[in-house]
Amino acid sequence: MANISSRIAENYAHVRQRMEAAAARAGRSSAEIKLIAVTKYVSVEVAGLLFEAGCRDFGESRPQELWQKAAAFQSRDVTWHMIGHLQRNKVRRTLPIAALLHSCDRVRLLEEINRVAGELGIASRILLEVNISGDETKHGFAPDSLATVIDKLPAYGNVNVGGLMAMASLHGDLAAARRDFTRLRMLRDELSTQLPDGVDLDQLSMGMSRDFEVAIEEGATIVRVGSALFEGIEP
Ligand SMILES: *Cc1c(COP(=O)(O)O)cnc(C)c1O
Repeated sequence: MANISSRIAENYAHVRQRMEAAAARAGRSSAEIKLIAVTKYVSVEVAGLLFEAGCRDFGESRPQELWQKAAAFQSRDVTWHMIGHLQRNKVRRTLPIAALLHSCDRVRLLEEINRVAGELGIASRILLEVNISGDETKHGFAPDSLATVIDKLPAYGNVNVGGLMAMASLHGDLAAARRDFTRLRMLRDELSTQLPDGVDLDQLSMGMSRDFEVAIEEGATIVRVGSALFEGIEP
């Protein structure tokens, strides 16, 4: 475990350095960019080593895994993020755990989050997931459907939308990823010219292990990094 521990600490420091360098290239401060460690590949024990290395924001893409890991981390000061597809029947258990739900990808989920948050007496924080690459296998709102969704947000009083989330196409290279991220930022800027009261789109959750530097150069405020943090570790 000692070896693994030092390897994790190195990986974490290296990702942080790469984030700083990317931010500097874009004339940004790395302090304005949040790193979420995606722990879906590793055990609670290995995720714990990342906590010891200084990481405080963790993300999971499957609700059951989120519930289990969050329970195991209960005594530690960790902020959890739900980043994957969420079925409506899992909203009730997920909302109280996830400080931010990145993956609100359809109106019926938005409605359910609003309803359940009302019943629980909590205000949920979410991002709208956008299928920016148009990949058929991807979840998310179509870019040209977002204006209509956003116009309706004031009707969902228990939902706080804070921005957009997307993934770059799985099929393209880094240049294609950059185009996807640029498109998401421009879409955000366009939508931001006429937002209803109480809605803001300040957060852009984009960038994973293979493309987080490009995402930061294109304006990401949150990157979701998994495999790069666990390089050299047996799963
Ligand atoms: C798994 C996952 C990530 C992290 O992926 P890596 O390529 O391992 O960094 C980020 N976002 C989402 C939505 C994921 O499912």
